[in-house]
Amino acid sequence: MASATRPIQRVGMFGGAFDPPHTAHRALAQAALEQLGLDVLHVMPTGQAWHKARTLSAARHRIAMCEAAFGDLPRVRIDRRETGRHGPSYTADTLAELRAEYPQATLYLVLGADQLLAFKSWVRWEEVLSLATLAVANRPTNIGAQALRGDAPLTDLSGVDLPFVPLCMPLQHISATALRAKLATEPADDPSLDLLVPDAVASYISQNHLYQTPT
Ligand code: ATP
Repeated sequence: MASATRPIQRVGMFGGAFDPPHTAHRALAQAALEQLGLDVLHVMPTGQAWHKARTLSAARHRIAMCEAAFGDLPRVRIDRRETGRHGPSYTADTLAELRAEYPQATLYLVLGADQLLAFKSWVRWEEVLSLATLAVANRPTNIGAQALRGDAPLTDLSGVDLPFVPLCMPLQHISATALRAKLATEPADDPSLDLLVPDAVASYISQNHLYQTPT
């Protein structure tokens, strides 16, 4: 006898430039899937993000790398809607669309600690809070170009006056910025990148000659 399909109750959104996606992104997606008991996680590469100063790699590459990084995880959907938008793309709009698609579900917005600290600078952040529960993984304080140094402490979230659910995962000393800098001088299949970039992403970067000049 066929069993009834369980309704979708818990939906996650995990946004990012993913330029490129790395092993910390993957660990965060896995933590969210397991610890929040998600029925589906929308991995959402951004369009040309309003808060990123630099020009991102082409959306088709970032989408393909997300397929490579997360495609084998159960219940993950690589969601292209933000990359298809013209003009700036706002999380509040995306969450409103997800709310309409899943009217009964609890929505979670999955973030790293740096984004929680910056959250009140987001466009319509109050609306974001009304649409989704924030689920936050800690991150070392040295983000950006310094991120591969393994000696930085945890981000202090004790002063944050926003409601959020903590996600547990081992601290990950990785950022896409530091990876791009490394990839400008080393091939993507260099063993020093093994623990930083999923193998399938490294192969895609090699085949498409990405990140060969500093950004
Ligand atoms: P960049 O260095 O280019 O700013 P990034 O490594 O911070 O990139 P994003 O694509 O901007 O990666 O991040 C997407 C999401 O993943 C954000 O919520 C970010 O906080 C989170 N994240 C990225 N790296 C880590 C990490 N090492 N630990 C925890 N969360 C992380």
